[in-house]
Amino acid sequence: MTTFNQPISGNDLARFSGPNTFMRLPQAQSLDGLDVAVLGIPQDIGTSWRSGTRFGPKQIRAESAMIRPYNMDTGAAPFDSLQIADIGDLAINTFSLSESLRIIKESYDAILAQDVVPVAMGGDHSITLPILRAIAHKHGPVALVHVDAHADVNDEMFGERETHGTVFRRAYEEGLIVPDKTYQIGIRGTGYAATDFTEAQGWGFQHFPAKELWNRSLYGMGAEIRRDIGDRPVYVSYDIDSLDPAYAPGTGTPEIGGLTTAQALELIRALRGLNIVGCDLVEVSPPYDPSGNTALTGANLLYELLCVLPGVTVR
Ligand code: MN
Ligand code: MN
Repeated sequence: MTTFNQPISGNDLARFSGPNTFMRLPQAQSLDGLDVAVLGIPQDIGTSWRSGTRFGPKQIRAESAMIRPYNMDTGAAPFDSLQIADIGDLAINTFSLSESLRIIKESYDAILAQDVVPVAMGGDHSITLPILRAIAHKHGPVALVHVDAHADVNDEMFGERETHGTVFRRAYEEGLIVPDKTYQIGIRGTGYAATDFTEAQGWGFQHFPAKELWNRSLYGMGAEIRRDIGDRPVYVSYDIDSLDPAYAPGTGTPEIGGLTTAQALELIRALRGLNIVGCDLVEVSPPYDPSGNTALTGANLLYELLCVLPGVTVR
């Protein structure tokens, strides 16, 4: 019988002590036997405005020490049926974005070769392009649930084609995602041109602007997306700036009028039943939120993502 890794209980060891791993899970030195690997990608050289996401994984881990193993709202018990560990941070090259993207792609190839589901703590959103390259290499083009204030479909920024704002145009061009099974949720803010969002819609991307979600439950929309995706493999990329800056101020490119924390929970919970093959939570920038609430929210959203992975027991 397999013994599944458990987070250290706050009743056995004070929450302010112990290892700085996600939820104080064991840190795995090898991928052997794992179903899910939580990992940090401490990168912020792909961002265009405020930096600081290099500190994201460290603070998300610190804030995750409060989270208990059972989801009292949904009944999900991820640590009862999946072998989950924190495998540490990827050794990116903080002086070279292109080299870092190569390192991320190769690291993901190794993780996916062992049939381990990767759950990433970013890092700015530029990490998602090499992740999707590896995911598509293994699974073929995937459906994409992309929650973000921004569509991240710029062609280039300062002549650079691989940045946190160009990810999903590259993913579309490279055939990494199924365009009409790509859902961009929470988009808002000002643009460079009136057509900023319409071009991606022409590719087939389905847009759910924040203003259409204000004051609404997201369960219904999430259920529609779930039905539309069916059983094809899906990747979930969660940019913390999809939330309103009132809830998540610690991020690089905040936009007002965003989702609430409750909507973020509803959206993720509605995805249960999908064939999720990987996910990330990006753009947490601790220096812009001394309260730690943004990282706390990010940690909890990552936990909620663990709760909807295939194979999770629901009690
Ligand atoms: Mn983004
Ligand atoms: Mn964003």
